Amino acid sequence: MHETMVAESLLATISDEAAKQNAKPVSARISCGMLNAINDEVLCFAFEAIAKDTVCEGMKLQVEHKPIQGRCKNCKQSFDVEFCRPSCPTCGSEEFDLLPDAPLLLETIEFETE
Ligand SMILES: [Zn+2]
Repeated sequence: MHETMVAESLLATISDEAAKQNAKPVSARISCGMLNAINDEVLCFAFEAIAKDTVCEGMKLQVEHKPIQGRCKNCKQSFDVEFCRPSCPTCGSEEFDLLPDAPLLLETIEFETE
């Protein structure tokens, strides 16, 4: 399952960082594009399962879905595409290219402070 692979790579990255900081991670923020087929609940569940008995046990994951970006063919501005009103916010043109969906990124890790 896709989410399990994502959870494993997150766990590896967070564990590495925790070892470097010599601290216990309490939460992490992840972002990904809207088209990235990540189910937050499945991901959190998968993460919880593999984090058991590791330094990451009990951590909270927050997943932020980023809007799709478009680039206007008329004025070349990039903007967040709203599917209910797909047009350039700068010049109003409806001619634009969709930019590639945002990759899954580990944004921040919060560590326990003593
Ligand atoms: Zn425009």
